[in-house]
Amino acid sequence: MTQKELQLSEKEIKVMIEQLELEIASLEESAAPVAPENSIGRISRMDAINNKSVIEASLRNRKRKLSKLHLSLTKIRQPGFGICVSCKKNINPKRLMLLPESDKCVRCA
Ligand SMILES: [Zn+2]
Repeated sequence: MTQKELQLSEKEIKVMIEQLELEIASLEESAAPVAPENSIGRISRMDAINNKSVIEASLRNRKRKLSKLHLSLTKIRQPGFGICVSCKKNINPKRLMLLPESDKCVRCA
């Protein structure tokens, strides 16, 4: 990857991190503890609990993605970033953002 491509990727990663952080913040708000049974009734409490687990699953998902992006940001500054360890060719930048821990291209992985 060229210096310019690296800078572009870095910028893109930062934007993605910002977006994810916003999403996580609003999801955390919606995942607030479910109110006690007597205040909202049994059925809606069940709904709230179901809803909560959906929110928590997507929170976990986003947090995993966020930590990968942070990892990408660290790795992007290291020499040899984006080069396949097997064939020494450039790794597709999109692949790097989804799987920053990978040091091989799609063909070699
Ligand atoms: Zn390769």
